[in-house]
Amino acid sequence: MTPPPAIAPGATLGVLGGGQLGRMFVHAAQRLGYRCLVLDPDPDSPAGRVAESHLRAGYLDGQALEALAREAAAVTTEFENVPAQALRMLADRVPVAPRAQSVATCQDRALEKALFARCGVPCAPHAVIDDEAALAAVPDALLPGILKTAQLGYDGKGQRGVSARAQLASAWRELGGVRCVLERRLDLALEISVVLARGADATVSFAPFRNLHRDGILALTQWPAPQLDAALARAADAAARAIADALDYRGVLCVEFFVDRDGTLQANEIAPRPHNSGHCTIDASDVSQFEWQVRALTGLPLAAPRAHSQAVMLNLLGDLWRDGVAPDWRGVLALPGAHLHLYGKAQARRGRKMGHLTLTAAGADEAAAVAREAAARLGLSAW
Ligand code: ADP
Ligand code: MG
Repeated sequence: MTPPPAIAPGATLGVLGGGQLGRMFVHAAQRLGYRCLVLDPDPDSPAGRVAESHLRAGYLDGQALEALAREAAAVTTEFENVPAQALRMLADRVPVAPRAQSVATCQDRALEKALFARCGVPCAPHAVIDDEAALAAVPDALLPGILKTAQLGYDGKGQRGVSARAQLASAWRELGGVRCVLERRLDLALEISVVLARGADATVSFAPFRNLHRDGILALTQWPAPQLDAALARAADAAARAIADALDYRGVLCVEFFVDRDGTLQANEIAPRPHNSGHCTIDASDVSQFEWQVRALTGLPLAAPRAHSQAVMLNLLGDLWRDGVAPDWRGVLALPGAHLHLYGKAQARRGRKMGHLTLTAAGADEAAAVAREAAARLGLSAW
């Protein structure tokens, strides 16, 4: 069977969402000669500022969706909370990747966990909480646990730790009494993620990333994950591919995993887009997760990646901006292998992702050493 013709460079690609992920998609698309049209209501969005055109409208704005369908040869999304309805409406007119159905699954922790079960991929013991009765029926084995809203959570938002049954009701109320998932709190040895791209006739994946979170927000990624057991890496890759296959996924997908103290692998959540942990592929791999997103969307070949450097990525949160003033970047830029990425956000707020810094080196120890030095120069306690 001959593959359908690819969307050739020169065409316009549409992006739903104007955050930093969209901005890095636009950079990758433009490098390949595409033009980009971003839909985001924020007049000063990171991706809107670098795209050829920016539609400043809501995601369900009929006129804006009409313009996107008319002008874009294909449409992708950079965040999972875009209304699936918008994707469905667009899909009637232009190729859309990922599909609305895949995005809808990633929008809901309960659907994600049902998908893991269908794929035979283990995840943390959990229960779906829809009402008071479900809350009362929670088995003891799920405590201590973490109560998470089924939808709209990110960067640790929409979560409450619950150490005892007596706290369950108030935690659920604090989260608005909406549909939630209660997960047992696992004793984590480490967290890893797999980022893959799935096209019409190939799936490619990066070696797992090792992730360190602080206050529920990714602080640091090491890649390739140092000293990761080879069997565990293979199992994570196979699980991620099984999940993508089950969704008949199109585009870039990330699967986050927990590794328990006893060495078992558990899927945590999935993201229908490039992932924060994969940012280091821009500087440490000969193809980045964002270029994969462009290629998967346009039907260009998905070539296997080659990591040419070891990398450590440090997230730069608004906390680093003292009284709104950015750090002096000269200290870190003087370090060999330092790659600074700033997203052009005007307002620095606590916990807001303002940029990231990737440190690359020939060896993992060297990358770790330079990252430690960079963190010290910035006054970052991430390490
Ligand atoms: P988010 O959508 O905010 O990324 P996650 O479910 O991935 O939500 O949770 C954020 C972080 O909180 C995880 O990366 C992990 O560090 C911690 N965490 C979440 N669930 C559990 C759990 N069941 N056991 C232990 N730690 C957890
Ligand atoms: Mg997460």
